[in-house]
Amino acid sequence: MNSNSFRGKIFLYYIVVFFLFTASVLAFQYEREKKFRTRQLENTLDNFTEITARFIEKNDLTGKNELSRITELKDILPQPHIRITVIALNGDVIFDSSVKNYQTMENHLHRPEINKALNHNSGANIRHSDTTQENYYYYARKYSHFFVRTAVVYDVQVQNFLKTERFYITFIVAAFTVIGIILFFITSRMADAITKLRDFAVKAGKKEQIDPITSFPGNELGTIGSQIIAIYSDLNNTKNELANEREKLLSHLNALNEGIAFFSSGKQKTLSNRYFIQYLNSISDRKVTVPEYIFEMEELAELNRFLENHSITNTAAEKLHQWEFTISKGEKFLKVQSIIFPDRSFEVVITDITRLEKRRLMKQQLTSNIAHELKTPLASIKGYLETILENRPVSAEKQRYFIEKAYLQSQRLTHLINDVSLLTNIEDAGELFRFKTTDLKTLIEEVHQNFANRIDEKNIAFTTEIPENTIVNGNESLLFSVFQNMIENSINYGGKGISIQIKVYHEDDKYYYFSYSDTGSGIPEEHISRIFERFYRVDHGRTREAGGTGLGLAIVKNAVQLHKGDISVRNCETGGVEFLFTLAKS
Ligand code: ADP
Repeated sequence: MNSNSFRGKIFLYYIVVFFLFTASVLAFQYEREKKFRTRQLENTLDNFTEITARFIEKNDLTGKNELSRITELKDILPQPHIRITVIALNGDVIFDSSVKNYQTMENHLHRPEINKALNHNSGANIRHSDTTQENYYYYARKYSHFFVRTAVVYDVQVQNFLKTERFYITFIVAAFTVIGIILFFITSRMADAITKLRDFAVKAGKKEQIDPITSFPGNELGTIGSQIIAIYSDLNNTKNELANEREKLLSHLNALNEGIAFFSSGKQKTLSNRYFIQYLNSISDRKVTVPEYIFEMEELAELNRFLENHSITNTAAEKLHQWEFTISKGEKFLKVQSIIFPDRSFEVVITDITRLEKRRLMKQQLTSNIAHELKTPLASIKGYLETILENRPVSAEKQRYFIEKAYLQSQRLTHLINDVSLLTNIEDAGELFRFKTTDLKTLIEEVHQNFANRIDEKNIAFTTEIPENTIVNGNESLLFSVFQNMIENSINYGGKGISIQIKVYHEDDKYYYFSYSDTGSGIPEEHISRIFERFYRVDHGRTREAGGTGLGLAIVKNAVQLHKGDISVRNCETGGVEFLFTLAKS
């Protein structure tokens, strides 16, 4: 049993109490025994002095100077080792049964027992005798002419005492043993609860796994113990659940595209994701490493003002303060949002809206471009119709001429509207295009057939190098537009007698690599980088004449991208342009 354990302690205390109790009872008993014996001894010695005195007086031993006869008396006394001393009233020893040359003994008047006898008629003293080297019990009594002193060896020894008290000690030990056994059982029940609680506390301290169904004895301590463990288990479960939730939240935050950080009311970060720092770095000119830097950023002074103004006011529980602001830095547009929660903690969310913003600007531009592009054919149609209406009478021939012109413009308008709507659909609702297995060799052949007349007209040589089974998962009509636009451009802008070549120059697991080239006039280098932009034309006049909308290559690029591919353009060294593009196989 560990002496530091609860039970060990109880037994240690018990044994100490046991010893103290036994020792004090024995000491008390011993003292009583000593007193009892002393009194007994004193009585005996008193009798002896009385007998001795009478013997002296009766036989007039002092007068006859025959005190040595006292030895006779000694023989008949029951105490064989008794020492009898007779002392004159002046203190001189006149007889001593144990000392032969008693005449040489010093004056005894100041011996304590004699002194007491002088004053109170009798006196006793326990003293070590130098002569015999033993403790003596001296008892003296004063008589009219002398003192008689009797002495015996005083030997109330502890050992003897303990021997005589053996029964008593045995009884005490037995009683204590019985009490000890009872105590053992009581403490084992108490200690069981305490030991289990201790084990629990140690495990809890080390954050080890705790068995929630630890069984406790059915006493109060047991109830307390099981309650503590139940409460602890609940707390632990809640803590684990919270940690799990936090983990999930963190994973979720890190999976977000937004930069997000939660701050305490004291402006200390409680949670943030990696984008947050990344976005702060794109806003700030300085290197940002901690989310709290947000409160020092010049660029976010407005946010800080908002936080200052609202964190002091006692936010009503149902009302959340929100703030939103868009910041632009270089190419980037970032939306900064903040919400102050009722407990005055707050979150800051930074969203990269560059794409959205650029798209918004592009849409704006596109809309104004469309309006501009629509105006031209509409104005022409209006002009032709006005000419017919206002210049009457107009010859039938002239009328027909203007109506044909207006019809052409209306066709152009239809073409334009179709292109705009196609482009918008690809961009905004790409997922609406149905994809299916499409054989490109057949598709390109079809496009070629569509343009066969015009190709012949312009004396264009058309060749393809498309392997059989060049199959992609794509939208037929969009893929048709891709090749149609490129072939139409070559016909329109390339010139006469050119050649067009479409080939698959490479193929890997994922892509077909296409090359579309013609040997026409090519595109001036200064325009080549912008050729895929909407409504971008090299030569406005010529393009219009050719019936182009400036949207053809924009449609091509968007359609290729919708097929998970990419496209680039370059002028060939030998003249003409070459478009290199990829189309994903599936
Ligand atoms: P459009 O629909 O008006 O033809 P595109 O976007 O298809 O517009 O083409 C943009 C411009 O690129 C055209 O105005 C034309 O000048 C030039 N271009 C396109 N393809 C070729 C080509 N094969 N050869 C020469 N110039 C071309």
